[in-house]
Amino acid sequence: MVMDKLGNSLQDALKKLVKSGRIDERTVNEVVKDIQRALLQSDVNVKLVMEMSQSIKERALKEEVPAGASPREHVLRIVYQELINIIGKATDVPLKPQTIMMIGLQGSGKTTTTSKLARYFQRKGLRPAVVCADTFRPGAYQQLHTLCTKLNVPFYGEEGNPDAVGIVERGLKELQKNDILIVDTAGRHSLEADLIEEMENIHAIANPDYKLLVLDGAIGQQASEQARTFNESVGISGVVISKLDGTAKGGGAISAVCETNSSIAFIGTGETPEDLERFEPDRFISRLLGMGDIKSLIEKAEETLGEEDIDMESMMRGKFTLKDMYKQLESINKLGPMKQIMQMLPLGGLGAKIPENAYQDTGDKMGRYRIVMDSMTEEEMLNPRLIGSARIKRIARGSGCTADDVRELLKYHKMMQNAMKGFRGGKFNMQKMMKKMGM
Ligand code: GDP
Ligand code: MG
Repeated sequence: MVMDKLGNSLQDALKKLVKSGRIDERTVNEVVKDIQRALLQSDVNVKLVMEMSQSIKERALKEEVPAGASPREHVLRIVYQELINIIGKATDVPLKPQTIMMIGLQGSGKTTTTSKLARYFQRKGLRPAVVCADTFRPGAYQQLHTLCTKLNVPFYGEEGNPDAVGIVERGLKELQKNDILIVDTAGRHSLEADLIEEMENIHAIANPDYKLLVLDGAIGQQASEQARTFNESVGISGVVISKLDGTAKGGGAISAVCETNSSIAFIGTGETPEDLERFEPDRFISRLLGMGDIKSLIEKAEETLGEEDIDMESMMRGKFTLKDMYKQLESINKLGPMKQIMQMLPLGGLGAKIPENAYQDTGDKMGRYRIVMDSMTEEEMLNPRLIGSARIKRIARGSGCTADDVRELLKYHKMMQNAMKGFRGGKFNMQKMMKKMGM
């Protein structure tokens, strides 16, 4: 999950709130203290943390509890809103012809993000192309060339020529027939004067619509200086926070975004061109708070799968037969690694924590479930309630599995069905979900 550690400690803090019966000053103070600790440990800037906790405290104690909400829900909502406040709105990079310039220090993830963006626009049906203006790092040309070739994205570069500005000028001309032109630039290890000068010169030639600053999610407070410096030289239109998979704390980058009054456009969650997500603050915070993210799963599913594959809509309406589940399991193979999918499903919420090795187990289990279902009749697939102990035996025999395997599958189906029902109405209702989870 994105920023595991922060998420876990925030969830712990909120749990405390659930356990206590009343919302009084002491409880609020305690919860706020826990939230402060969680944010500071994740490198969120001290000043921000203090401002936020002050405002949670004030609001929790002063604002009237809305009709129909418990005091508990009241505080949870405030915490949620204040977290969203810190992060601010997202930068929207529209799906239309444009030039995008990548900026950031060396190793921040510019080149990887360049390929991810190319893939992102390609998936949306646009024609991206890439210019390699990194003439500084040996191997930069090859790295980007290889990535683009794999994606079948037009690429311009001049291996061995140090004239980055000239390359950009020629590259943009050569690639002008494409919709989206992405200029990947060089970085340095630190903010040196020649780097800034090069950025300014490339900026002047490329006249980009968007300047995306790539910040490594794992860096701490240095993020602020980087963001400020780049913002003062060429201006940033949006930020990509990379490496939010794994152990990145993220808070440094988020604080930097806040300080420079910019906002996050995308987050990078892995090394492959597919691992880019459009940033959506409410979704991000829901995920941090451990809500499971059915919305991103749906989006991903719609992009990856054809309509006949899976009917998310009907599943969310609660009509979720074994047949649907079978299709879903088949589709999961297409969607990508089990881990990513599981994190997006509400299962994480229902089954509390999913241990790391469970993902592999679950992948194996899914395979077994499919085999079991292959031995069911059409009637049973559409109406699992028909399956009593005699049928269980028959299905087990037919599929070469045990009766327990069949029962487990039925139980899993029931759980999925309930989870889907929980999201009925399409719109994700955080309070309702929290209630369901016993929070
Ligand atoms: P650049 O110097 O700014 O162009 O950075 P690169 O794109 O070359 O990335 C530096 C390193 O970070 C590479 O090893 C990438 O594979 C890795 N990287 C970039 N983005 C991500 C990400 O979102 N997740 C992970 N795990 N690694 C990333
Ligand atoms: Mg690079």
